[in-house]
Amino acid sequence: AVSVALFTSDLRVHDNPVLRAAVRDADAVIPLFVRDRGIRRTGFDAPNRRAFLADCLADLDAGLRRRGGRLVVREGDVVAVARAVAVATGARSLHIGSGVSGYATHRENGLRTALAAAGCTLHVHDAVVTAVAPGRITPAGRDHYAVFTPYLRRWEEVGVRGTLAAPRAVRLPDGVESEPLPKRAEVAGVSPGLADGGESAGRGLLSSWLRGPLADYGDGHDDLAGDATSRLSPHLHFGCLSAAEVINRARQRGGPGADAFVRQLAWRDFHHQVLAARPDAAREDYRTRHDRWRSDEDEIAAWRAGRTGFPLVDAAMRQLAYEGWMPNRGRMLVACFLTKTLYTDWRVGARHFLDLLVDGDLANNQLNWQWMAGTGTDTRPNRLLNPVVQGKRFDPHGTYVRRWVPELAELADGEIHEPWKLTGPRRAAIDYPDPLVGLAEARARFERARGLD
Ligand code: FAD
Repeated sequence: AVSVALFTSDLRVHDNPVLRAAVRDADAVIPLFVRDRGIRRTGFDAPNRRAFLADCLADLDAGLRRRGGRLVVREGDVVAVARAVAVATGARSLHIGSGVSGYATHRENGLRTALAAAGCTLHVHDAVVTAVAPGRITPAGRDHYAVFTPYLRRWEEVGVRGTLAAPRAVRLPDGVESEPLPKRAEVAGVSPGLADGGESAGRGLLSSWLRGPLADYGDGHDDLAGDATSRLSPHLHFGCLSAAEVINRARQRGGPGADAFVRQLAWRDFHHQVLAARPDAAREDYRTRHDRWRSDEDEIAAWRAGRTGFPLVDAAMRQLAYEGWMPNRGRMLVACFLTKTLYTDWRVGARHFLDLLVDGDLANNQLNWQWMAGTGTDTRPNRLLNPVVQGKRFDPHGTYVRRWVPELAELADGEIHEPWKLTGPRRAAIDYPDPLVGLAEARARFERARGLD
């Protein structure tokens, strides 16, 4: 018998319930990845993620070849391609990981119908993308948790499944051809500092993270100069690493750093279960509706370009452009700045992030944006982060700002977060914009808009 393992956000051989079930189910397996035209049409296929994906596919192919198989890549509509492969090979089963977006549900429904007509059964596996499946834990009378703390409590109680070994052998049926694998070098418009993708790179990064920096994560994770987070997010987004394995291995190390790190992975599951229950939250305000947003094109352009005149905001936005990645503290600050200080619709910021972020993820991106904008699950939706206070706290020596905003490199630690206070020739000597807005007026405008004054 033949089965198909349809890879989506699980581009790995280790701890992959989809691949494992497909191998157990049949004598021969087709490890299939479809370059889905449906996803391309959504604009989700931005250059940084397309480049990282090319690395992931090359490495997945290598991992399968080490086990006697190889990756079969096809381009087209995912449902049509899967059906054609099933018909051509007589596959009796197709395995896929369950997704959380509206698109993933649509894909599952389409596959179920099309495959049934071809005599092939669809098997949808949970806890492939997330550690705990959405819907697995729910509060009384509701289909998902809207508040993180009670979610976390239950999430810790139910625990994460054990890590699955990679299959020893993957045998392909004869005569199945692959289209050429996409190459990273062929993708235009990629951020110059983009990280390398793929399961091998991800596993290497995870091992060194667990051996060293994890121990200091509890106190250190917001230290912008120290670059003190794992940078595992793109590997988790593409599934080069499974969230369950990352959690199990972090727990084995133990300690306060590991506890804090695992809690962040619970946030990932939390946002996924919100989106699974409320797919419209990718577009619509989740809880509190705000529709009186301002829209000033010059301000938005300055924010995108990292030229707002607020050094920490600009540093983070320039890092995003250069690396396709930004630490969480930076994301929170720039999102708060756009949505609360400039009072701009969170969708404008979420779109820009999705254009650039290598880990750009519908659940994590849209719901974190909504959290920051105060339309989502934040229980204190009207708190406002001050970029100067944040700078003094999380980049006290201005190291992070100097790295990304070289115009300010010569300023003293005590000056660097408030360059507008410089006067005379010292101000004239730096080519750096004046602040887009006064923080006090912006706060007053925000409070008026929210009816807090
Ligand atoms: P670490 O601090 O090492 O954390 C480990 C892992 O925990 C991360 O890789 C991630 O999978 C998860 N995690 C950490 N923080 C969060 C969080 N707040 N929400 C959900 N999961 C979290 N994360 C994405 O993966 N994709 C996105 O598109 C995305 N967009 C964001 C947009 C905004 C406005 C904000 C405020 C946050 C966003 N995040 C997003 C969450 C978070 O910023 C990143 O996951 C994190 O910065 C990735 O860096 P890291 O891997 O070094 O994280």
